[in-house]
Amino acid sequence: MRLTRFFLPVTKDVPADATIVSHQLMLRTGMIRQNGAGIYSWLPLGFRVLKKIEQIVREEMDRAGAIELLMPTLQQADLWRESGRYEDYGQEMLRIEDRHGRDMLYGPTNEEMITDIFRTYVKSYKALPLNLYHQQWKFRDEVRPRFGIMRGREFLMKDAYSFDLDEAGARVSYQRMFAAYLNTFERLGVKAIPMQADPGPIGGDLSHEFLILAKSGESAVFCDREVLDVPAPGPAFDFSDISALEAETDKRTRFYAATDEKHDPSVFEQIPEDRRVEARGIEVGHIFYFGTKYSGPMKAEVQSQEGQLVTIHGGSYGIGVSRLVGAIIEASHDEDGIVWPASVSPFDVGLISMKPDDDAVSAMADALYDKLCAAGKDVLYDDSSDRAGAKFNRMDLIGLPWSITIGPRGVKSGCVELKHRATGMKTELSPEDALARILEA
Ligand code: ATP
Ligand code: MG
Repeated sequence: MRLTRFFLPVTKDVPADATIVSHQLMLRTGMIRQNGAGIYSWLPLGFRVLKKIEQIVREEMDRAGAIELLMPTLQQADLWRESGRYEDYGQEMLRIEDRHGRDMLYGPTNEEMITDIFRTYVKSYKALPLNLYHQQWKFRDEVRPRFGIMRGREFLMKDAYSFDLDEAGARVSYQRMFAAYLNTFERLGVKAIPMQADPGPIGGDLSHEFLILAKSGESAVFCDREVLDVPAPGPAFDFSDISALEAETDKRTRFYAATDEKHDPSVFEQIPEDRRVEARGIEVGHIFYFGTKYSGPMKAEVQSQEGQLVTIHGGSYGIGVSRLVGAIIEASHDEDGIVWPASVSPFDVGLISMKPDDDAVSAMADALYDKLCAAGKDVLYDDSSDRAGAKFNRMDLIGLPWSITIGPRGVKSGCVELKHRATGMKTELSPEDALARILEA
């Protein structure tokens, strides 16, 4: 993509209500545009990151055996009356009336709708276990939308829903999501720690929030440092191996990790002092088992092997896809701007031409641009006539993992300058070697 053909409205002006660094950087780099309280447009640069995260989430859900579908944003109130949540949900729900006077709502979540789909089609235990998910916009009329897209009113969530014959089956489905989340966040280049969460009225131990440590986080977190070092299950993990699933969960849950809501100082203080971590965190995922909370009142039942009608056991599993864009920036930036993990970077490489009006420079830059593109890399090619300083600052600000600079001096010596954004390391080398270095990274 040539910068002169792209839409990248970089700006210095940031409103005073942008108090945290990710919000400021997303505005400065032209990733988002606020359209109303907690409502944003995703401009091209931001949209690319959002799509990359969505794709990684999709691949990891699929790997864990979940199946993607798409439910609408607008829902009928009647479904929510069946579960009793139409009244319970309160002011966070945006209620709408259509021209026929029917009560509708903009979905804040989809338990009722997925349960309705399930009960319509699934009648036998043979279809279980089943896990259906989608990635769809949600609306919650938050009292205090803030921090940009991190606490928006309209936001993109991945929500998965599992269906099992009994609690034992639901536990396995839960552990599958637990392991899938660890792999997902690992691929997104962030460390998200599973923490005990409030299981709600059902009780039990099957509720975890996944938090990324960051100064600006809304939750206070307390954990044993050891939990930070447990490696993710990895791409070769076998999601059908029930004892391996149990082991993955146990490896972490045996260490203390809780947010302020569940924190127990008396247990925390038993951890050796040098291992106690007190920090702040951003909730990027939440998984929980809710048993028959929806299947009971909504009559989602299947025939068991013995021919009995059984109410299914459910769980739901959310990931804040749009929130993650901000959370990743919170976890990965420096004084010059964003430092994207390679997996979610809006482009793989920035290519800076120092003198686009110089034919020799342009020829060299064009050739390298073509080679990078042919090798499957997404390249942002700065072919603008801005001054050098402005080009470098902008490239650092938007934080692509690699940038290559080509100028008249390099044309003479046959060299380009390759910069690695995360370390700041610069190397002079031939265009071929620069290409090879990027491809092997
Ligand atoms: P929070 O405690 O942050 O309000 P929640 O517990 O209400 O979140 P869940 O219902 O667990 O949220 O939703 C699943 C995920 O969706 C959350 O873990 C979070 O990452 C994301 N999310 C929830 N609310 C918002 C929001 N207002 N803006 C952006 N993302 C959100
Ligand atoms: Mg939550």
